[in-house]
Amino acid sequence: MTIELPNDPARADVLAARPTLWTNGLYRENAIADASLPLAPSQVDEAEANWKRLAPLLAACFPELDATAGAIRSDLIELDALREALGYGGAGFGRVFVKADSALPVAGSIKARGGVYEVFVFAEELARREGLLARGQDIRDLAGPDARAFFSRYTIAVGSTGNLGLSVGIAARALGFKATVHMSSDAKAWKVERLRKLGVEVVQHEADYTTAVEMAREVAASDPSIYFVDDEQSRRLFLGYSAAASELAGQLAACGVTVDADHPLFLYLPCGIGGAPGGVAYGAKKIFGDAVHCFFVEPVQSPCALVHMMSGSQDLVSVYDVGLTNDTEADGMAVARMSAFVATVMREMLAGVFTVDDASLFRWLRLAHETQAIRLEPSAAAGFAGPHFLVDHPQGRAFAERWKIGDSLARATHVVWTTGGSFVPQEQFDAFLKMAAELG
Ligand SMILES: *Cc1c(COP(=O)(O)O)cnc(C)c1O
Repeated sequence: MTIELPNDPARADVLAARPTLWTNGLYRENAIADASLPLAPSQVDEAEANWKRLAPLLAACFPELDATAGAIRSDLIELDALREALGYGGAGFGRVFVKADSALPVAGSIKARGGVYEVFVFAEELARREGLLARGQDIRDLAGPDARAFFSRYTIAVGSTGNLGLSVGIAARALGFKATVHMSSDAKAWKVERLRKLGVEVVQHEADYTTAVEMAREVAASDPSIYFVDDEQSRRLFLGYSAAASELAGQLAACGVTVDADHPLFLYLPCGIGGAPGGVAYGAKKIFGDAVHCFFVEPVQSPCALVHMMSGSQDLVSVYDVGLTNDTEADGMAVARMSAFVATVMREMLAGVFTVDDASLFRWLRLAHETQAIRLEPSAAAGFAGPHFLVDHPQGRAFAERWKIGDSLARATHVVWTTGGSFVPQEQFDAFLKMAAELG
């Protein structure tokens, strides 16, 4: 299939794989209130309640969560040295923060909010259905030997470019489930090794992410003892991510940040299939309404959300359909076709998408390490382009004018969501730094 993208200021850059900013013409106020969406804001509250109820069980399974009583949280870090290094020293950029999901416990990436959530919600649901957990019974019993023996009769399956497989595999094995991860060809060897050490069956595909997911779905459909975490369609994953927004809101308030019509908030969210950034954006819209503007960021060769949303097509458009390759070192974002579910939810809620080249990812990865000791994998550095695009780029300026926030940019807050990296082995991280040095 070949698709002709519509006329748009960003079109030529997208097709030539040049970094650019596309702003969404369908973006509108209060889009979250649309009753025809396949999701309601109250479900974010339910997800938060689920996380709270599961926290004692999570703490029982993961000792590293003792300090937070089972909550999986990340720091909000204000940039100082890194801010200068990135060229954001000027007052015109307001305040710039990193939301450091790169250091999330349990899985070392934003997938700890999605994959871990879905596995634990499923485990509780299964245990209640099968009479293993009575009303009022301590949820920590699900970490005991009887529950483990019971869970070991089930398999959790997932398709992944790496990090979702890691989080689902870790969560599943912690409860005693069997786990099968179908990895795309992008998956880094250390992620595969780490899973195999945990006793996870890893099936490595020569094909891309979309194919790996299809394979996993097919195998799961034929066997009722397999629970499939469907990254392309899962509401649970999406809602697990969405709970991050209230965590962010509390941290911004603690930093004295006001978010309202005069003090806009910008979120820069690395996007693969769209579930993680979509979930966070949805949660943020629920809390901050029109005062928050959410942008996805994608590699220049893998801008699946950008090309699909720009196309305006009902059918999913992939990056191959417009002649791009899906080649990138940013394995967390190496996805050629976005989730149809996320596309529907984000249609009028997403401010825009910008793209970055791989060389920039390595440069920012090195800067974050050298200036503020923030350890990232390439995908996780993508959001650093955000303030530049918004403040300096012609499409960013047009966006600010359209939404009447041009005068409030100096009072704005930018949050760059860094999505993974703390589990990267030293050897691999050294190779990233070497790559950055070679790129100059
Ligand atoms: C998964 C992932 C993303 C993107 O999340 P999607 O749900 O696939 O859109 C971005 N960065 C990292 C490091 C990831 O692991």
